[in-house]
Amino acid sequence: MKEIDLVIPNPTGLHARPAKVLVNLAKKFQADISLQHGAKKANAKSMVSVLTLGATQGSPVHLQVSGVDEDAAFEALVEAINAGLGDLEPAPAAVAVSQAPIPQVTAPAASSSTLAGALRGIAASPGIGIGPVFHLEQADTSLDALEELCRNPKMNLEAAMQQAREDLARLHQGMVEKKLGAEAAIFEAHIELMEDPELHEAVQESVAGGENVVRAWQTAIEARAAMVATLPDPLLAARADDLRDVGRRVLRLMLGLKEKTLAEAGSPVIVIATDLSPSQTATFDPQRVLGFCITTGGPTAHIAILARALGLPAVVAADEGILSLPEGCMAVIDGNDGLLIPDPSPQVLEQARQRESLWQEQRRVSLAQAGKPAITLDGHHVDVTANIGSLADALEALRQGADGVGLLRTEFLFLERGTGPDEEEQFNVYRDIAAAMRNLPVIVRTLDIGGDKPVSYISMKPELNPFLGERGIRLCFNRPELFQDQLRSILRAAPYGNLRIMFPMVADVTEVRRARAILDDLCRDLNAPAVQVGIMVEVPSAALMADVIAPEVDFFSLGTNDLTQYTLAVDRGHPTMAFMTDGLHPAVLRLIAHTIDAAHKFGKRCDLCGELGADPTALPVLVGLGIDELSVNIRSVPQVKAQVRTLRLADAQSLARRALDCATPQEVRALVKAFQG
Ligand code: PEP
Ligand code: MG
Repeated sequence: MKEIDLVIPNPTGLHARPAKVLVNLAKKFQADISLQHGAKKANAKSMVSVLTLGATQGSPVHLQVSGVDEDAAFEALVEAINAGLGDLEPAPAAVAVSQAPIPQVTAPAASSSTLAGALRGIAASPGIGIGPVFHLEQADTSLDALEELCRNPKMNLEAAMQQAREDLARLHQGMVEKKLGAEAAIFEAHIELMEDPELHEAVQESVAGGENVVRAWQTAIEARAAMVATLPDPLLAARADDLRDVGRRVLRLMLGLKEKTLAEAGSPVIVIATDLSPSQTATFDPQRVLGFCITTGGPTAHIAILARALGLPAVVAADEGILSLPEGCMAVIDGNDGLLIPDPSPQVLEQARQRESLWQEQRRVSLAQAGKPAITLDGHHVDVTANIGSLADALEALRQGADGVGLLRTEFLFLERGTGPDEEEQFNVYRDIAAAMRNLPVIVRTLDIGGDKPVSYISMKPELNPFLGERGIRLCFNRPELFQDQLRSILRAAPYGNLRIMFPMVADVTEVRRARAILDDLCRDLNAPAVQVGIMVEVPSAALMADVIAPEVDFFSLGTNDLTQYTLAVDRGHPTMAFMTDGLHPAVLRLIAHTIDAAHKFGKRCDLCGELGADPTALPVLVGLGIDELSVNIRSVPQVKAQVRTLRLADAQSLARRALDCATPQEVRALVKAFQG
């Protein structure tokens, strides 16, 4: 037997990709190969076993090899582990959600909210869709539901696996052909997980003990998924979903359960489901999907942001009645008012068609006028800028008439890769964006990770409440080098355009002073010209103390996505409670009003860059409260500008005053609807 102590060098530890490299290599040899980390020992030929080691960068591991070809195996494995298992090159960055088109709509021409039979939900992405409904529910593969089928499987395990292997290989090939390498890798990993030798040992053991093979398979999958799900590293823990996914695939084949896919829908459809995963939604083709309506979710959840990015009308947190609509029944989805109208009468259908064509016409006209400023009927100017995440977004923002960039989310440079970008890489990107925007202001938000955006190569202790933990500016303070690299790169890029710096997740003035002091030191070191500095107001304490903070910054930008979740104590991504995260809640509006007033008292600007800015119902209230700039999804820019042009500031101000006196968000929405006629 040969053995050695090694240290895992690669930044992402033994996550799926390097684990797969290790397992594939180990499988080439006959020798028994194990890897030990702390008290856990893994069979190096089992993907799940290697994943559950939970080894991260710097973890000591003990490699043991014994068998006929142990010399060759030992040499190959030591070399591969020391070389980083193919993981020392950064992975390609994920495509930013905001790169896709985001059709938006101004105030609806006619409201259908009083229609009888309409099923209510929350408007998550505007637009109107008319067509048959299509239920995209996962088949219930819980074993109790399948008791009878389990006794008479349609395929044995080997045949089901063979079929699954072919299906996965086809999906993989399809993604490769579309140049979606990262997505393709998921299907490769599924094959690996499905063929895990330890998984099959467990199944065989159960079957030998008299268990039904279907049950044995499902139990073995679930046991491993549960184990993986508890791993502290979120990247590794997420593999539990992949295990369950591939487990369901094989189970469905064994039982002869047909998986429903959109390909079965002959014509374009309105998708109905309890929930949809972001990866499922990302594959929706607007040629085939007219919109979607789900019973879970909230307006600022990722799925809603994705729907706007794809330009798909969407209703979330909808009445459960949508789930019992007959398949293929004609319906109207109204993403402006958050309604699904099944079996519309000819009159309602006609009205919906008119609204849809009016909406398209409004989009066309507003796009044609997008280059003009957004000025109310009585001469009040509001800047309309874009939220972007890349250079491609910046170019698109210009095409859509943005007056600048109100929020550059720099996370896109840091997520989905093995190592962080260095100062030079960041400098190049910020410089290119600054130059592309031709002197229009670009607000660069410093790194806002933590919370629901963990980064594998930045090791963080597991947190019970990550949204209330080491996130945004707090994380940057704890990692001075990371923070300083980013600030230096922004300062160096600033002369190429009109860059401003914004700090996220600021809770009070001491954090502003601390961040500014770091920035001032760097400015001096670099002999760089000063840049404007602002903060996101997204923590309620910062909003309440806005009058104390205002003298120390150049501008505020209200992050209403987080401000709403923190004010109402509702997780913005919560599967069933997120419907409560309505930024038009009077509690949130009062914080917004207080922040704007405090900024103006000290002659500072107050912008807004949360999703609320593109909500046609919120817009007149925000303008009435005195917002200086609305930074919105790129494709919303023309519509937001167009809607500002329909307003009279004096009317919006009196509307805003009344909104602040409302008791509930529903009252505010009703008030605005009445205002809009
Ligand atoms: C916000 O919180 O409103 C915001 C714009 O930031 P993010 O959605 O990136 O947290
Ligand atoms: Mg935020």
